[in-house]
Amino acid sequence: MPGEEKKRPGEGGCAAREERIDRACPNNYIARMALRDILILPDKQLRLVSKPVATVDASIRALADDMLETMYDAPGIGLAAIQIGEPLRLVTMDLSKKDDEKAPQVFINPEITWSSEEMNLHEEGCLSIPEYYEDVERPAKVRIRYLDIDGKAQEVEADGLFATCIQHEIDHLNGVLFIDHISKLKRDRVIKKYTKMAKQGAD
Ligand code: ZN
Repeated sequence: MPGEEKKRPGEGGCAAREERIDRACPNNYIARMALRDILILPDKQLRLVSKPVATVDASIRALADDMLETMYDAPGIGLAAIQIGEPLRLVTMDLSKKDDEKAPQVFINPEITWSSEEMNLHEEGCLSIPEYYEDVERPAKVRIRYLDIDGKAQEVEADGLFATCIQHEIDHLNGVLFIDHISKLKRDRVIKKYTKMAKQGAD
């Protein structure tokens, strides 16, 4: 929520960022960047399975820039393309700490190639489910393969917040939300609440 001062403790999940960063500029596409609307639960598009990016071209780079701008503005630390209504396997992320320089990252067609048996419990949030946070258990470490913004294949091992966030975002590409990992009772309650809020907003 822009301007929202109240924060949960810790760096929980992929929606928590306190400061607003005005510009993300991983490349030289700044002129084309635009703020996009973020889809909110229960928008059905959030349940779509996104398609692989065929070619990392100028349109993909422009989309990544829009996503970064939208993510920083929210503010959030991770965003999947479907959250702005683009069903493509594209994720943006910035896990830099508050006082650090910003460190935008783009993951194209990311895939988990290995998960640790060790699990980790981390509080998560989601820009598509604003102001809702819950502990989620996931593998503590994962290895991921993806294409970078230049279309080059990369493979990295992730742990800590990075592991949590990349698994959360890859879930989005498969139409899965973090509330799918919590109890049915809690999930039903949150879906009901956001459905009611969406109806009220539409009236
Ligand atoms: Zn999310």
